[in-house]
Amino acid sequence: MSLITDITAATDRYNLHSHTQFCDGRATMEEMARSAGECGMLHYGFSPHSPICVDSPCNMSRESVPLFIDEVRRLSESPDIMPRLYAAMEIDFISPDFGPHIDYFQRLPLDYRIGSVHFVPNQDGIPVDCDGSAERFRRYLKEAYSGDLRYVVEKFYEQVLTMLERGGFDMLGHFDKIAQNAVTVDPELEQYQWYEALIDDVVSHAVSAGVVVEINTKYINTKDRFFPHEMWWPKLLAAGVPIAVNSDAHYPDKIEEGRRMAFDKLEKLKSK
Ligand SMILES: [Zn+2]
Ligand SMILES: [Zn+2]
Repeated sequence: MSLITDITAATDRYNLHSHTQFCDGRATMEEMARSAGECGMLHYGFSPHSPICVDSPCNMSRESVPLFIDEVRRLSESPDIMPRLYAAMEIDFISPDFGPHIDYFQRLPLDYRIGSVHFVPNQDGIPVDCDGSAERFRRYLKEAYSGDLRYVVEKFYEQVLTMLERGGFDMLGHFDKIAQNAVTVDPELEQYQWYEALIDDVVSHAVSAGVVVEINTKYINTKDRFFPHEMWWPKLLAAGVPIAVNSDAHYPDKIEEGRRMAFDKLEKLKSK
Protein backbone atom coordinates (compact mmCIF):
# COMPACT_ATOMS: atom_id res chain seq x y z
CA MET A 1 0.00 0.00 0.00
CA SER A 2 1.17 3.50 -0.75
CA LEU A 3 0.24 6.76 0.94
CA ILE A 4 -2.36 7.42 -1.75
CA THR A 5 -4.01 4.00 -1.61
CA ASP A 6 -4.04 4.19 2.21
CA ILE A 7 -5.97 7.44 1.94
CA THR A 8 -8.38 6.33 -0.80
CA ALA A 9 -9.09 3.06 1.03
CA ALA A 10 -9.92 4.90 4.25
CA THR A 11 -12.13 7.76 3.06
CA ASP A 12 -13.52 9.73 0.14
CA ARG A 13 -12.88 13.02 1.99
CA TYR A 14 -9.68 13.77 0.08
CA ASN A 15 -8.43 15.76 -2.87
CA LEU A 16 -4.90 14.97 -3.96
CA HIS A 17 -4.54 17.19 -7.03
CA SER A 18 -4.77 20.98 -6.66
CA HIS A 19 -3.12 24.24 -7.63
CA THR A 20 -2.37 27.54 -5.88
CA GLN A 21 -0.48 30.78 -6.34
CA PHE A 22 2.70 28.77 -6.84
CA CYS A 23 1.61 27.98 -10.41
CA ASP A 24 -1.65 28.85 -12.17
CA GLY A 25 -4.03 28.46 -9.21
CA ARG A 26 -6.17 31.44 -8.30
CA ALA A 27 -5.79 31.45 -4.50
CA THR A 28 -3.12 31.05 -1.85
CA MET A 29 -2.30 27.70 -0.28
CA GLU A 30 -3.75 28.96 2.98
CA GLU A 31 -7.07 29.90 1.33
CA MET A 32 -7.25 26.52 -0.41
CA ALA A 33 -6.41 24.63 2.81
CA ARG A 34 -9.07 26.51 4.78
CA SER A 35 -11.65 25.98 2.07
CA ALA A 36 -10.77 22.27 1.98
CA GLY A 37 -11.38 22.14 5.73
CA GLU A 38 -14.78 23.81 5.30
CA CYS A 39 -15.65 21.14 2.70
CA GLY A 40 -14.86 18.50 5.31
CA MET A 41 -11.72 17.25 3.60
CA LEU A 42 -9.49 15.06 5.73
CA HIS A 43 -6.60 14.90 3.25
CA TYR A 44 -5.53 17.63 0.88
CA GLY A 45 -2.61 17.51 -1.53
CA PHE A 46 -1.00 20.53 -3.15
CA SER A 47 0.36 19.64 -6.58
CA PRO A 48 1.78 22.68 -8.38
CA HIS A 49 2.75 22.35 -12.03
CA SER A 50 6.40 21.37 -11.84
CA PRO A 51 9.37 23.39 -12.97
CA ILE A 52 9.84 22.62 -16.62
CA CYS A 53 12.47 22.80 -19.36
CA VAL A 54 10.40 24.94 -21.76
CA ASP A 55 8.80 28.36 -21.40
CA SER A 56 5.46 28.05 -19.65
CA PRO A 57 3.62 30.66 -17.59
CA CYS A 58 1.58 27.92 -15.87
CA ASN A 59 4.56 26.15 -14.26
CA MET A 60 6.40 27.01 -11.06
CA SER A 61 10.07 27.98 -11.05
CA ARG A 62 12.81 25.86 -9.47
CA GLU A 63 13.55 28.77 -7.11
CA SER A 64 10.05 28.67 -5.65
CA VAL A 65 10.09 24.92 -4.86
CA PRO A 66 11.68 25.33 -1.37
CA LEU A 67 9.19 28.12 -0.57
CA PHE A 68 6.35 25.83 -1.59
CA ILE A 69 7.58 23.00 0.61
CA ASP A 70 8.09 25.38 3.56
CA GLU A 71 4.57 26.71 3.14
CA VAL A 72 3.09 23.19 3.27
CA ARG A 73 5.04 22.63 6.50
CA ARG A 74 3.93 25.94 7.99
CA LEU A 75 0.26 25.29 7.22
CA SER A 76 0.52 21.69 8.48
CA GLU A 77 1.52 23.05 11.87
CA SER A 78 -1.37 25.49 11.98
CA PRO A 79 -3.84 24.12 14.57
CA ASP A 80 -6.92 25.56 12.87
CA ILE A 81 -6.35 23.93 9.48
CA MET A 82 -8.37 20.75 9.37
CA PRO A 83 -7.14 18.49 6.59
CA ARG A 84 -3.86 16.67 6.65
CA LEU A 85 -1.77 18.47 4.01
CA TYR A 86 0.68 16.98 1.51
CA ALA A 87 3.46 18.47 -0.58
CA ALA A 88 3.10 16.92 -4.00
CA MET A 89 3.80 18.02 -7.54
CA GLU A 90 2.15 17.57 -10.93
CA ILE A 91 5.22 16.82 -12.98
CA ASP A 92 5.21 17.33 -16.72
CA PHE A 93 6.61 14.62 -18.94
CA ILE A 94 8.28 16.37 -21.88
CA SER A 95 10.66 13.71 -23.21
CA PRO A 96 12.76 10.79 -21.97
CA ASP A 97 15.19 13.51 -20.81
CA PHE A 98 12.64 15.40 -18.75
CA GLY A 99 9.89 13.87 -16.66
CA PRO A 100 9.02 12.62 -13.18
CA HIS A 101 11.81 10.01 -13.39
CA ILE A 102 14.75 12.48 -13.56
CA ASP A 103 17.01 12.93 -10.53
CA TYR A 104 15.87 16.47 -9.88
CA PHE A 105 12.29 15.40 -9.14
CA GLN A 106 13.30 12.17 -7.42
CA ARG A 107 15.41 14.12 -4.91
CA LEU A 108 12.71 16.63 -3.93
CA PRO A 109 11.20 15.92 -0.49
CA LEU A 110 7.67 15.35 -1.79
CA ASP A 111 4.94 13.19 -0.24
CA TYR A 112 3.95 11.88 -3.69
CA ARG A 113 4.30 12.71 -7.37
CA ILE A 114 1.69 13.02 -10.12
CA GLY A 115 2.81 12.36 -13.70
CA SER A 116 0.89 14.32 -16.36
CA VAL A 117 1.24 15.08 -20.04
CA HIS A 118 0.27 18.55 -21.28
CA PHE A 119 3.01 19.02 -23.89
CA VAL A 120 3.14 17.02 -27.11
CA PRO A 121 6.20 17.25 -29.38
CA ASN A 122 5.36 18.26 -32.95
CA GLN A 123 6.84 16.62 -36.06
CA ASP A 124 10.05 18.64 -35.50
CA GLY A 125 10.29 17.48 -31.89
CA ILE A 126 9.26 20.84 -30.41
CA PRO A 127 7.03 20.42 -27.34
CA VAL A 128 3.71 22.27 -27.73
CA ASP A 129 1.19 22.84 -24.93
CA CYS A 130 -1.97 21.02 -26.06
CA ASP A 131 -3.93 21.85 -22.91
CA GLY A 132 -5.74 25.17 -22.61
CA SER A 133 -8.57 26.44 -24.75
CA ALA A 134 -9.98 24.62 -27.76
CA GLU A 135 -9.41 27.72 -29.87
CA ARG A 136 -5.70 27.77 -29.04
CA PHE A 137 -5.42 24.03 -29.65
CA ARG A 138 -6.97 24.36 -33.10
CA ARG A 139 -4.55 27.14 -33.93
CA TYR A 140 -1.57 25.09 -32.76
CA LEU A 141 -2.89 22.06 -34.63
CA LYS A 142 -2.78 24.02 -37.86
CA GLU A 143 0.41 25.98 -37.24
CA ALA A 144 2.59 23.52 -35.31
CA TYR A 145 1.34 20.07 -36.38
CA SER A 146 0.34 20.69 -40.04
CA GLY A 147 -3.26 19.94 -39.09
CA ASP A 148 -2.54 16.27 -38.41
CA LEU A 149 -4.88 15.45 -35.52
CA ARG A 150 -4.10 11.74 -35.49
CA TYR A 151 -0.40 12.56 -35.15
CA VAL A 152 -1.07 14.75 -32.09
CA VAL A 153 -3.36 12.21 -30.45
CA GLU A 154 -0.99 9.28 -31.03
CA LYS A 155 1.99 11.33 -29.88
CA PHE A 156 0.14 12.38 -26.72
CA TYR A 157 -0.46 8.74 -25.79
CA GLU A 158 3.10 7.84 -26.73
CA GLN A 159 4.17 10.45 -24.17
CA VAL A 160 1.86 8.91 -21.54
CA LEU A 161 3.17 5.40 -22.26
CA THR A 162 6.83 6.47 -22.16
CA MET A 163 6.20 8.33 -18.92
CA LEU A 164 4.69 5.15 -17.42
CA GLU A 165 7.68 3.12 -18.62
CA ARG A 166 10.13 5.59 -17.07
CA GLY A 167 8.15 5.72 -13.82
CA GLY A 168 9.17 7.82 -10.83
CA PHE A 169 5.63 8.89 -9.93
CA ASP A 170 2.74 7.59 -7.86
CA MET A 171 -0.38 8.79 -9.65
CA LEU A 172 -1.22 9.16 -13.34
CA GLY A 173 -2.94 12.53 -13.95
CA HIS A 174 -5.94 12.93 -16.33
CA PHE A 175 -4.63 10.36 -18.81
CA ASP A 176 -6.91 11.17 -21.76
CA LYS A 177 -6.75 14.96 -21.41
CA ILE A 178 -5.96 15.36 -25.12
CA ALA A 179 -9.54 14.28 -25.86
CA GLN A 180 -10.87 17.52 -24.34
CA ASN A 181 -9.59 19.55 -27.30
CA ALA A 182 -9.23 16.80 -29.90
CA VAL A 183 -12.95 15.95 -29.91
CA THR A 184 -13.73 19.57 -30.81
CA VAL A 185 -11.91 18.84 -34.09
CA ASP A 186 -13.21 15.29 -34.56
CA PRO A 187 -16.22 14.41 -32.38
CA GLU A 188 -15.96 10.74 -33.49
CA LEU A 189 -12.43 10.33 -32.18
CA GLU A 190 -13.27 8.12 -29.20
CA GLN A 191 -15.25 5.72 -31.40
CA TYR A 192 -12.23 4.66 -33.46
CA GLN A 193 -10.64 1.30 -32.79
CA TRP A 194 -7.13 2.68 -32.98
CA TYR A 195 -8.04 5.21 -30.29
CA GLU A 196 -9.50 2.59 -27.98
CA ALA A 197 -6.35 0.50 -28.47
CA LEU A 198 -4.32 3.45 -27.14
CA ILE A 199 -6.55 3.60 -24.04
CA ASP A 200 -6.06 -0.15 -23.54
CA ASP A 201 -2.30 0.36 -23.78
CA VAL A 202 -2.38 3.07 -21.13
CA VAL A 203 -4.42 0.92 -18.75
CA SER A 204 -2.10 -2.07 -19.11
CA HIS A 205 0.99 0.13 -18.73
CA ALA A 206 -0.55 1.70 -15.59
CA VAL A 207 -1.02 -1.79 -14.15
CA SER A 208 2.60 -2.70 -14.89
CA ALA A 209 3.84 0.59 -13.45
CA GLY A 210 1.86 0.06 -10.26
CA VAL A 211 0.53 3.62 -10.24
CA VAL A 212 -2.77 5.00 -9.00
CA VAL A 213 -4.95 6.27 -11.86
CA GLU A 214 -6.70 9.57 -11.31
CA ILE A 215 -10.26 10.35 -12.30
CA ASN A 216 -10.10 14.11 -12.76
CA THR A 217 -13.44 15.82 -12.14
CA LYS A 218 -12.48 19.42 -12.83
CA TYR A 219 -14.45 19.88 -16.06
CA ILE A 220 -17.50 17.69 -15.60
CA ASN A 221 -19.78 20.71 -15.09
CA THR A 222 -18.26 22.99 -17.72
CA LYS A 223 -17.12 20.58 -20.44
CA ASP A 224 -19.29 17.60 -19.54
CA ARG A 225 -16.45 15.11 -19.23
CA PHE A 226 -14.25 13.42 -16.71
CA PHE A 227 -10.60 12.55 -17.45
CA PRO A 228 -10.50 9.72 -18.24
CA HIS A 229 -13.93 9.78 -19.85
CA GLU A 230 -16.38 7.56 -18.00
CA MET A 231 -16.69 5.31 -21.07
CA TRP A 232 -13.22 4.00 -20.10
CA TRP A 233 -13.91 3.43 -16.40
CA PRO A 234 -15.03 -0.19 -16.88
CA LYS A 235 -11.55 -0.88 -18.27
CA LEU A 236 -9.98 0.56 -15.11
CA LEU A 237 -12.21 -1.53 -12.89
CA ALA A 238 -11.61 -4.69 -14.95
CA ALA A 239 -7.84 -4.13 -14.74
CA GLY A 240 -8.10 -3.57 -10.99
CA VAL A 241 -5.99 -0.41 -10.96
CA PRO A 242 -6.28 1.74 -7.84
CA ILE A 243 -8.31 4.88 -8.53
CA ALA A 244 -8.28 8.33 -6.92
CA VAL A 245 -10.95 10.94 -7.58
CA ASN A 246 -9.50 14.47 -7.71
CA SER A 247 -10.95 17.86 -8.57
CA ASP A 248 -7.66 19.43 -9.75
CA ALA A 249 -8.97 22.58 -8.04
CA HIS A 250 -7.55 25.96 -9.03
CA TYR A 251 -10.20 27.92 -7.03
CA PRO A 252 -11.30 27.57 -3.36
CA ASP A 253 -14.94 27.05 -4.36
CA LYS A 254 -14.10 24.27 -6.84
CA ILE A 255 -12.54 21.80 -4.41
CA GLU A 256 -15.56 19.49 -4.48
CA GLU A 257 -16.31 20.06 -8.19
CA GLY A 258 -17.72 16.85 -9.66
CA ARG A 259 -16.26 14.56 -7.03
CA ARG A 260 -19.58 13.33 -5.60
CA MET A 261 -20.89 12.59 -9.07
CA ALA A 262 -17.78 10.57 -9.91
CA PHE A 263 -18.00 8.52 -6.71
CA ASP A 264 -21.68 7.81 -7.34
CA LYS A 265 -21.01 6.70 -10.91
CA LEU A 266 -18.11 4.52 -9.79
CA GLU A 267 -20.27 2.87 -7.13
CA LYS A 268 -22.95 2.11 -9.73
CA LEU A 269 -20.38 0.56 -12.06
CA LYS A 270 -18.89 -1.56 -9.30
CA SER A 271 -22.27 -2.95 -8.31
CA LYS A 272 -23.09 -4.04 -11.88
ZN1 LIG B 1 -2.80 18.79 -15.50
ZN1 LIG C 1 -3.49 19.96 -12.39
